[in-house]
Amino acid sequence: MTATLLAPPDDDLRTRLVAACPGVRVDTTAGTRARYAYDASSYRVAPLAVAFPADVAELQQLLRACADLAVPVTVRGGGTSMAGNAIGEGLVIDTSRSLRRVLSVDAEARTATVEAGVVLDDLARELRPHGLAFAPDPSSKSRATIGGMLGNDACGNHSVRWGRTSSHVVEVEVLLSDGTHVRVADGVTAVDPDDAAAVRRAAELEAELRTMARENLAILRTELGRIGRQVSGFHLDELLPERGFDVARALVGSEGTCAVVVTATVRLVEPPAATSLLVLGYADVVDAATDVPLILPFEPTATEGIDDAIVATMLARRGPDSVAALPQGRAWLYVELDGPTQAAVQARTDELLTALHAAGRLVEGVVVDDPVQRASLWRVREDGAGLSTRPDATTQTWAGWEDAAVDPSRLADYLRDFRALTAEHGLSGVLYGHFGAGCVHVQAVRVGGAARRRRRAAAAARTLG
Ligand SMILES: Cc1cc2nc3c(=O)[nH]c(=O)nc-3n(C[C@H](O)[C@H](O)[C@H](O)COP(=O)(O)OP(=O)(O)OC[C@H]3O[C@@H](n4cnc5c(N)ncnc54)[C@H](O)[C@@H]3O)c2cc1C
Repeated sequence: MTATLLAPPDDDLRTRLVAACPGVRVDTTAGTRARYAYDASSYRVAPLAVAFPADVAELQQLLRACADLAVPVTVRGGGTSMAGNAIGEGLVIDTSRSLRRVLSVDAEARTATVEAGVVLDDLARELRPHGLAFAPDPSSKSRATIGGMLGNDACGNHSVRWGRTSSHVVEVEVLLSDGTHVRVADGVTAVDPDDAAAVRRAAELEAELRTMARENLAILRTELGRIGRQVSGFHLDELLPERGFDVARALVGSEGTCAVVVTATVRLVEPPAATSLLVLGYADVVDAATDVPLILPFEPTATEGIDDAIVATMLARRGPDSVAALPQGRAWLYVELDGPTQAAVQARTDELLTALHAAGRLVEGVVVDDPVQRASLWRVREDGAGLSTRPDATTQTWAGWEDAAVDPSRLADYLRDFRALTAEHGLSGVLYGHFGAGCVHVQAVRVGGAARRRRRAAAAARTLG
């Protein structure tokens, strides 16, 4: 991929932007702009400037200045997006430095209100004493922010049970592009009821959204929400009357293109009383994916898949101990079951293992009850995904076919076709994903340069998209 590290200078616009935001930290230095030209994707776009608002008032000031000067805005949390979501050529606004307070936890109602820049691991730490958790758990949880999770409608290893971030959002406070501060839930209201302009703007916006939903009922009902993991595009089906005209959920996944999230009130869950982890070894990922429809009726909390390239990565980067507990095989499923007691979970685990052995594809399955060993095995899935951009000292891989999702019952066919196509284009890669949700991530090994990867991506979009 051609890297444009620094855009042509536009000093005049930059100077006007800085002048329009007195007192706000707007960094125009080449070093900062170069650093923010990256997220976790293959793309590189240098911004005009990077802003670090100290509070909501400064954020409003920045948005108004950008609207006046026609400067595009990209909001950014941890910058861990894998499809260029967190980079842009205008002003990048970093919310992760200041908007990082957990404002309240209501243990009885099982909700929390948090600022957009709160990192998921920090939220988890605050919720633990209440015996509660925010369910979506992307592997990037040590850096991913709530704002970014709402931006991407993130989900993680437990998405097969808990779904996506949008499933857990109650209410969101946002700033519109002109800085208007509104609250969205099953409608749009001004945060300050005494701000007449904001009240009018909120009412207009709600009316426009209702009209749009009413005039497009057929397409919203038939094209959207067809599979659990349909996360691309806007969730406009949430505006359907039978969905309760849920503007908050509709906003989730809009990648900062509609509004800037300031705070979110999210629903919390109680972690299960007892769980068991089953690690299943298969001859290859297609075999593993073929067994997913057998596993889903057992209502697992997680069904994750990895291939042997991830294991090779862990071997090369973390040593043989890191993968010693894996059963035999060249592809693995991590299946987590839960229940009211350990005995109940054990009975279901045994039943599932029996069913999988009878199906004839399972090479070896192990039940892991020891918490230390369990954590070590989850690290293969989670760290392996992160490390797979550098599988060893000499190899680099690139994102480029990310988060592709199909109905889980068709995942095996999809992977078979994808593998054939990848081989046809002479590429190899690291493959892992939320198999229970029919979702895969692929890091392609860099061979033959960008042109070959582009041809493969285009062919995959044509034949598998
Ligand atoms: C190793 C690795 C593993 C990952 N694993 C997963 C996974 O398991 N599941 C998953 O879903 N994703 C995963 N991701 C992708 C990514 O980490 C998540 O989507 C994460 O939630 C993004 O959070 P962030 O704070 O880094 O957001 P950013 O990347 O900074 O931003 C994400 C999007 O949200 C927008 N945004 C950010 N803040 C705001 C705001 N305040 N208001 C409005 N819009 C905003 C941005 O403009 C951008 O479009 C992974 C990434 C990596 C690198």
